[in-house]
Amino acid sequence: MFKLSKKVQALPPYLFLEIDKAKRQARAEGRDIIDLGIGDPDQPTPKFIIDALSQAALDPANHRYALDQGMPVLREAIGDWYKRRFNVNLNPQTEILPLIGSKEGLAHFPLAFLNPGDLSLIPDPSYPPYKGGTILAGGKPYLMPLSAANSFLPDLKKIPLSARKKAKIIFINYPNNPTGACASDDFYTELIAFAAKNKIIIISDLAYSEMAYDGYKPPSILEYPGASEVAIEFHSLSKTYNMTGWRIGWACGNRQLVAALAKVKSNIDSGIFSAIQLAGVTALRGDLDYLRSMRGLYQQRRDILVDGLNRLGWTAIKPKATFYVWIKIPPKAEAISFAARLLKDANIVVTPGVGFGKHGQGYIRMALTVSGARIKEALERIKKIS
Ligand SMILES: *Cc1c(COP(=O)(O)O)cnc(C)c1O
Repeated sequence: MFKLSKKVQALPPYLFLEIDKAKRQARAEGRDIIDLGIGDPDQPTPKFIIDALSQAALDPANHRYALDQGMPVLREAIGDWYKRRFNVNLNPQTEILPLIGSKEGLAHFPLAFLNPGDLSLIPDPSYPPYKGGTILAGGKPYLMPLSAANSFLPDLKKIPLSARKKAKIIFINYPNNPTGACASDDFYTELIAFAAKNKIIIISDLAYSEMAYDGYKPPSILEYPGASEVAIEFHSLSKTYNMTGWRIGWACGNRQLVAALAKVKSNIDSGIFSAIQLAGVTALRGDLDYLRSMRGLYQQRRDILVDGLNRLGWTAIKPKATFYVWIKIPPKAEAISFAARLLKDANIVVTPGVGFGKHGQGYIRMALTVSGARIKEALERIKKIS
């Protein structure tokens, strides 16, 4: 009876219906499923953060509408964290905007700058809200293929002049979901020059900066000269502190870009629950032991999974960061049916790469969000069916 808007009709199809159905059915049958499909930490939020929330929740002053632009103490804690972690100076008044999780900010941002027909340059495969937010804002995604041949970095030189002219925004995400790839200094330098020359806004999604291994420290784009003229960076407590359900993140960087996002949001939502903001301050000012143990845990799981798969003759590469392993499937296999077979024959859930875009074909993503013992069990099961 009612007709969906053209924008909603243009959203990419959801490709996991079949797999979701098979997964639910397997669970209903009581089968012992090992779920490597979920990009959500399996560990609880650290207790010192929960304690801060409990205390703040008792204070009636925190029960009312929170300030749209976040509490000053939170903006200051974010600024201090950027200084400590990246040696980047941010003005808490004008260059930091708390978000109800970074996803909403990433999806809302295109509303501030896209007119009908404008392009967003979007890596493919990538986190779905980049495309969704662009389409809902009336823009069009221009896909930049990521492949092993280009180290999963967009090849800016291949973007034709016609696309550069119509593009207003470029999305990047390193350390990367789903590929686990990281960006080099050269890439950031080239990207900033490209953006400045073509008057394109850089959106850097830095959700995984703290989830890195073997001593690697992912940079912020704001460390590079010229970035503050053209870039806005999105960050979140979700992955770092096992707080995906809490919904707290932020955008920071160029003040015009931060103000534009704040303007859009002031028409759509209101501030994060104040008690969560105060718990976020505690997280950001917390000591570093927790981060060390979080990294150690995922690094151990990564090594068990990747070494195990390679022993079985698969080709998996150890990511330097993120909790994802991006795995090439046999040459003729198709990602969705390959994943369906793993579920049917081995009770293992993985994510087909095409769920992140057509250039994800030929890959599956496994998340390091189950224990080392369960990863070993998954390897045993794969061995039995291969
Ligand atoms: C998980 C994730 C986020 C974080 O989302 P929140 O809304 O902050 O929970 C952002 N970007 C990518 C690529 C992610 O995988």
